Amino acid sequence: MTTVATMVSHSRPFIETDEIQAAIEVLRSRQLAQGGMVEQFERGMAAYLGSAGGVAVSSGTAALEVALRALGIGPGDEVVLPSYVCAAPWLAIQRVGAMHRVVDIDLETFAIDPTATRQALTSKTKAIIIPHMFGLPADLTALERLGVPLIEDCAQTLGAMEQGRVVGSVGLLTICSFYATKLLCAGEGGMVLSRDESVLERVRMLREYDEAPSLRPGATNVKMTDLQAAIGLVQLNRMACFLERRNWLADEYRVTLDGTGLVQPIVPAGRTHVYYRFVVRMPDLHNQVNGVSSVIARFEGRGVQCRKPVFRSLHRYLDLDGFPASEEAERTALSIPLFPSLTDEDVAQVHVALRSEWS
Ligand SMILES: *Cc1c(COP(=O)(O)O)cnc(C)c1O
Repeated sequence: MTTVATMVSHSRPFIETDEIQAAIEVLRSRQLAQGGMVEQFERGMAAYLGSAGGVAVSSGTAALEVALRALGIGPGDEVVLPSYVCAAPWLAIQRVGAMHRVVDIDLETFAIDPTATRQALTSKTKAIIIPHMFGLPADLTALERLGVPLIEDCAQTLGAMEQGRVVGSVGLLTICSFYATKLLCAGEGGMVLSRDESVLERVRMLREYDEAPSLRPGATNVKMTDLQAAIGLVQLNRMACFLERRNWLADEYRVTLDGTGLVQPIVPAGRTHVYYRFVVRMPDLHNQVNGVSSVIARFEGRGVQCRKPVFRSLHRYLDLDGFPASEEAERTALSIPLFPSLTDEDVAQVHVALRSEWS
């Protein structure tokens, strides 16, 4: 077979000696469950995002669920979220028994559309979940004006700025994910952050299910381990390097793709991009149902794993109409491998594949 020797995977965590050493030290200490490392990681993340504090949990999905519970959201309440996102925000809303109000995105930024969001508000709306997609902040300025509590979903975007503010510092609550392939990885894990201490205290109470003065019906075991937190802390110290490398890789892709007719990632005035994903749009696939799949297959043949950046929009799972931007994104968007542990050889292989597809 004449296949290329190596496959450049779509993403892969950056794990070096420091992460391995940190994990070994926790193992040696025999303090594995939530303890001092988790507290340090919470303080570190809170400082990074400018929050009053953080509460570490077992995943980003769990973080979304306890965030909703901490706001007292449940049956009879509505929560707005965008269609073009993974299933996690929708699942969290289901689990607390609230009603979802799914809205379309702004195609340019792939983020929740503020106008559609305003139109979806009712007297029952208790929160808006705002995923910052692929490393670019959503239009927080416009969303803030709606006067509804915002939950920033920073699972894909850390360290980016919107109008001089760090993402994750604007909403009443912010959630993060430390899943293996996110910007900052701990294997699995999540966190809820807030500038409001009383909200954080309610989140903490939902995580500590035992040894309380009375039984807590909403509480559950969603704790993070010290093993994960130790790895997360090392990664947090690497964030500046990670983001610099991501930015450099993105600039190189931009040069290679210049003049190809692809829509490259757009960075509106007043915002910065941290390139969790490098997502291009291929407008000529507008009318082709399986167009992206054939592009992905061709890249696979050239030894580069590309992906649809969102598996399936929520409105399609839910059988809802009126989501032209989400559908356009699903039909035309492609995510090209971009992560700090790409080697120079990997990068060269991606550039060759990009040129064969589009030059
Ligand atoms: C990954 C992700 C989540 C869920 O995080 P997990 O840690 O995998 O549960 C939520 N929202 C967005 C936007 C994500 O990308």
